Amino acid sequence: MPRLYFDYNAATPLAPEVSEILIKAYKDDIKNPSSVHQEGRHARKSLEQARARIASLLNCIPDEVYFTSGATEGNNAVLFSTWQTREESRNKIVTTEVEHDSILKPLSELQKKGVKVEFVPVNVRGETDLQAWQKALDDKTFLVSLMLANNETGMLFPVKEVSHLAHSYGALFHTDSACAVGKIPLSFHDLGVDFFVFSAGKFYGPRGVGGMLVKKGVPFSPLIFGGAQERGFRAGTVNVAGLLGLQTALEYSLGDIDNEILRQTRLRDKIKQGLLSLMPGVSFHEGGELNQLPGTINMAFPEFSGQTLIANLDLEGVSASFGSACHSGALEVSRVILAMGVRACEAAGSIRLSFGKMTTEEDVDGLIKAFRKVIRRMNVL
Ligand code: PMP
Repeated sequence: MPRLYFDYNAATPLAPEVSEILIKAYKDDIKNPSSVHQEGRHARKSLEQARARIASLLNCIPDEVYFTSGATEGNNAVLFSTWQTREESRNKIVTTEVEHDSILKPLSELQKKGVKVEFVPVNVRGETDLQAWQKALDDKTFLVSLMLANNETGMLFPVKEVSHLAHSYGALFHTDSACAVGKIPLSFHDLGVDFFVFSAGKFYGPRGVGGMLVKKGVPFSPLIFGGAQERGFRAGTVNVAGLLGLQTALEYSLGDIDNEILRQTRLRDKIKQGLLSLMPGVSFHEGGELNQLPGTINMAFPEFSGQTLIANLDLEGVSASFGSACHSGALEVSRVILAMGVRACEAAGSIRLSFGKMTTEEDVDGLIKAFRKVIRRMNVL
């Protein structure tokens, strides 16, 4: 029986054209782009062409693109850099409790160094109140960090507006865009942010490859030392093959994106209707139509444990998840859902389905069928 993969937010499948380019790049045995000989110059040319293409797809200039191993590294780099380069009078970061752990864990390290961290609350639809941001910000704030899309719920945040507000207080603004890139049209310059972090493994590219955009002129200090790669801001031999994969994945994910959003919205409605007909008590944790990635559905089955549901779906050939992939395996209830004010018993029955460009109507039919079997079985137990 073919598997039904509904865990795109943990890792999207590799696009076929990405696999092809990776195989070709490894067959061609691309060498070190820092070497001065012919092979090195060839690698450097491929690297800079990929940078220019990625810059044009994300609407920034090539000099604003830095390659990393993924979003965890990018988020850490931004948080520690802004702390190191901040004005002496500023000692505060403002963020939300629903950020990814690659924000919250470095923030607790910075708290140990004396940085004050203030969390703006998020309501049950994943919304933050602009007035709450205004209240939290002051002239001591050196950074505001707000994700573009939440990885557990797919809710979108008003990054442009909050970035504008942060700048009016003289603070820098960072957005973890790992869950948004490749899913909605985005422009670095139109968003008006200073730092923008992304990860290829979330948009049909290779895992362990990513990047960050740093607005030209914004101070930045490296997280990793050892070599002059990436204009001195990220030491280590650059993974050119992986970046060719990242470039191809970005082209793949952004091609025909408007139609893809409409198609995924139809699949989302079909899944929701199918599940509601099986179990009218199911509730969805989602933003409004305009504040929601269509390919992420987070929902609560009040009578069941989310973990047991996931295990039973797995037996029926469906891959779904309970909270974020970094935590699955642990029996914790999602802190993101709890932070939105959802009651603990409802949060314990919450699961996430995430899908994308390769998901078909037939997959959705198979998913509903699997749910029917699982719900029947769990009701009998
Ligand atoms: N931020 C968000 C919102 C994510 O979903 C993830 C991946 N789960 C990360 C950061 C970390 O990305 P990476 O695995 O590329 O380090």
